[in-house]
Amino acid sequence: MIVVMKSDCKQAEIAEVVKRISKLGLREHISQGAEHTVIGVLGQVSPELQDMLELLPGVEQVFPVSKPYKLSSREFHPLNTIIKVGENTIGSNEVVVIAGPCAVETEEQLMSTAQAVKAAGATILRGGAFKPSTSPYHFRGLGEPGLKLLARARQETGLSIITEVMTPQDVQLVAGYADILQIGARNMQNFSLLDEVGKTKRPVMLKRGLSATIQEWLLAAEYILAQGNDQLMLCERGIRTFETYTRNTMDISAIPVIKRLSHLPIIADPSHATGKWHLVAPVALAAIAAGADGLMIEVHPTPDSALKDGAQSLNFEHFQQLMSQLMPVITAVGRKLATSPLKAKPQPG
Ligand code: PEP
Ligand code: MN
Repeated sequence: MIVVMKSDCKQAEIAEVVKRISKLGLREHISQGAEHTVIGVLGQVSPELQDMLELLPGVEQVFPVSKPYKLSSREFHPLNTIIKVGENTIGSNEVVVIAGPCAVETEEQLMSTAQAVKAAGATILRGGAFKPSTSPYHFRGLGEPGLKLLARARQETGLSIITEVMTPQDVQLVAGYADILQIGARNMQNFSLLDEVGKTKRPVMLKRGLSATIQEWLLAAEYILAQGNDQLMLCERGIRTFETYTRNTMDISAIPVIKRLSHLPIIADPSHATGKWHLVAPVALAAIAAGADGLMIEVHPTPDSALKDGAQSLNFEHFQQLMSQLMPVITAVGRKLATSPLKAKPQPG
């Protein structure tokens, strides 16, 4: 249920609404909109509560929320969530570009990629140290030594880093190194992992599950928000369809749908969505045109010898070309590219 307060309501009137809500054992979520304070009510609400709250002074309107997700909905939280990462913001007017290899392989591979993507205009470095793998015989990541290499790349370049965490037990370890915790598509509904990242204060990027509906995705986001972590962004990375030419099918429409239903920033990942390097740039441009807050692009010094996802990885030259093609589209949608960090950055606190 949503309680919209009058634009000139008093603090005491808000406090009274909150008091009535907590008295019934329900939780409130207060959000300051552009003009109105909006109070979301979490828990099993009765129609009588609606009648009762409507009578209180300062209340403009009370209406039920039909959707099963609440904290991730725009109704509960009308203004966009803006997440600060390093010197950049995600979900604001800035478009952020996250780039790097699928997996951290060697120091040389990671450092050269970090320097190249920074020079081309990326502000966040990606790289998996714990890799989900469809086959147990494929490369599964370097583990903690991979995290240490990411931390070194951050120190050298000032780029923020994002890396995947796969199990609840690893959350503290990965949060000790990463600026953003990535939840992979295969773990979108790993509810104990969602709870655990929800307990940290570290920003989280939640990828859409392989066959997840938008509602299932927003309910997964709800788990993280319900634990108190509101530094959350989503990532559209393609979904399973009958099409086999591409690795997945990029759901471009999910971008404006998420913008309509939710206040959470959305990043597009054309690398996993298409599985083919030559499709990454056109789909990246389309995603920004559709309103995405940023991109996640796989980049490798030598894609033909990558241990993972070489077919969808851009080499340095192709990444640079993509960044040049991106600029007019970013301008056309009235946004600007997040600016690169100038100096090195210490470990997150
Ligand atoms: C990745 O980002 O490397 C990855 C494994 O992506 P996804 O979870 O979307 O498959
Ligand atoms: Mn990958």
